[in-house]
Amino acid sequence: MSALIDNLINDNLVPLKPYESARRLFSGGQDWLNANESPYANEYSVDSSNFNRYPSCQPEAVVSGYADYAGLDKSQLIVTRGADEGIELLIRTFCTPGKDNILICPPTYGMYAISAETCDVGIKKVPLNDDFSLNVNAVCAEDDVNVIFICAPNNPTGTPVAREDIKTVLSHFADKALVVVDEAYIEFDAENTWANEINNYPNLVVLRTLSKAFALAGLRCGFTLAQAPIIQALLKVIAPYPIPEPVAQIAAKALSAESLTLLELQVATLNREKETLAEALQALDGIELVGDRKANFVLFRYEKAPALMQYLVSQGMLIRDQSKQLNLHNCLRVSIGTEEQNQRLIQLINEFK
Ligand code: PMP
Repeated sequence: MSALIDNLINDNLVPLKPYESARRLFSGGQDWLNANESPYANEYSVDSSNFNRYPSCQPEAVVSGYADYAGLDKSQLIVTRGADEGIELLIRTFCTPGKDNILICPPTYGMYAISAETCDVGIKKVPLNDDFSLNVNAVCAEDDVNVIFICAPNNPTGTPVAREDIKTVLSHFADKALVVVDEAYIEFDAENTWANEINNYPNLVVLRTLSKAFALAGLRCGFTLAQAPIIQALLKVIAPYPIPEPVAQIAAKALSAESLTLLELQVATLNREKETLAEALQALDGIELVGDRKANFVLFRYEKAPALMQYLVSQGMLIRDQSKQLNLHNCLRVSIGTEEQNQRLIQLINEFK
């Protein structure tokens, strides 16, 4: 960086690097099983006749469509640029820079920590237990936190979080902190949602996205669900026009009854494919499945993980190395693709061995 930029830049950003998708380094084919996307590309059309106008801050059709889908009132959600924007908004709205802390439970999704770092908010880490369950006593022993992030099902371990544990944390922090349950993958484990508990807990927040089961990662559309006072606070911070008009049109269509029927079919297929892939991986010598499979990916440990990753990339297949995450040495995460992609992965691993 130039001396001018070095001099001016926000001190908190100095240790950070720009996000670089592994795909930029990847000249291979289309077998991208590294970002937990859906392998299905559903078709949508847009009407451009209003594109000369700024969009509504919170597009009515999307708000009411998602409120119906989640079983909530329209005052109980905010539409964001992906769930990632929801994470950042929560930190910016409920933590004072240089003073407050969030709490995370690694190994878990990386954006909670990154957003906190960019906002100069402290990060308290309470690692998951060896079986990846929540260390409830240790979480409740932390007294100086404003926002607690719990990812359920957890990325990258695929584990659910016991309802009793979340209940204990919600009650313990009732007057002290927000408890954010990140349900990015909830459609793959639908009965475990906390959305239907929003009316019972004023400090509960649920994060959702259209990037996974809805097969719309390219859209950048997510939702933060909570009681109205929390949503009102978030609306103070969000940009005036955060949701582009084409995004609003497609999101509204994705929430139609017809699209939701398709979603259910695709989730059922992916859940079946996931079990087939897991069985095939488990049957391979030296491969051990890790965690659980409540989302749309499988995590496994393999002694030669780095070399296997390299080989797969050379064959045009990208999966995710999780080795740097706490307690996930030599672990690789693979998103569930089409039947053909999953079979190809097994075939390539067999060739490598
Ligand atoms: N939470 C979790 C647990 C995720 O895995 C992801 C995406 N990888 C997100 C949130 C962010 O989703 P979005 O694409 O909606 O920003």
